[in-house]
Amino acid sequence: MTLETLLAAKAFIILIWFAVFFIAERIAMAATPPTSKARLFRNGGLWLLVLLLSPLIVAPITAWGVNQIIWVRPDWMAVGSASLAILAIDLLLLDIWTYWLHRAYHRVPLMWRLHEVHHRDEFLDTTSAVRFHIGEVVLSAMLRLIPITLLALPLSTVIIFETILLCSAIFHHSNVRIPTVVERVLSRFIVTPSIHWVHHHAIQQDTDSNYASFLSVWDRVFSSKSGTDRQLDMKIGVEGVEDQSFLRLILRPLMRNG
Ligand SMILES: [Zn+2]
Repeated sequence: MTLETLLAAKAFIILIWFAVFFIAERIAMAATPPTSKARLFRNGGLWLLVLLLSPLIVAPITAWGVNQIIWVRPDWMAVGSASLAILAIDLLLLDIWTYWLHRAYHRVPLMWRLHEVHHRDEFLDTTSAVRFHIGEVVLSAMLRLIPITLLALPLSTVIIFETILLCSAIFHHSNVRIPTVVERVLSRFIVTPSIHWVHHHAIQQDTDSNYASFLSVWDRVFSSKSGTDRQLDMKIGVEGVEDQSFLRLILRPLMRNG
């Protein structure tokens, strides 16, 4: 499969996945959404900015990083139909990387200024999964060059991981009603809405927990699992602050307070 085909497949899968959950959460909703549609435009605006700027900034960063790899993988590590185990290990390592990167976004004040834009959303649904400051998307792409160059990751593996990550984010931010028993079984393996909504609980202690993005095991392994159960009426957002207008969210990382 060529890189162009893989990129087209990524865009197609994400769009279909997003549409399915966007419709599903309107047919079978878990929590009652706010009547104001203002946040939908804010989240959509932030996504549009990422969609417009990513091909110009993020894609070249990743492509540049792949070209900086100074060691060549031996044949047995090459990703192909005969080495799916290698692909699985690469994806696992990228998932651990993403877990620690997410943790860093909460711990490092300058990184939190970017990530806070995502957390200021006061309700969660599929649109929250794509609500990120362009600065965070660019910084994440730059920092991901570390595992890419250290592991000599093929670009195809990075694209596959990005597809899994975004599909997972759309699912665990979504407001789809899922039978408790199904969610309980799923949550043992992957991050579900019941796990991730607690990460968005407007209580600092919960916000600084449940960092996993795809596999749920990392919060148990690295002792960051919250003991709080998701309540459908729990306050979503950042403790003590409110959401802001689109323009203020864009400028937010440059502001010290407010
Ligand atoms: Zn977070």
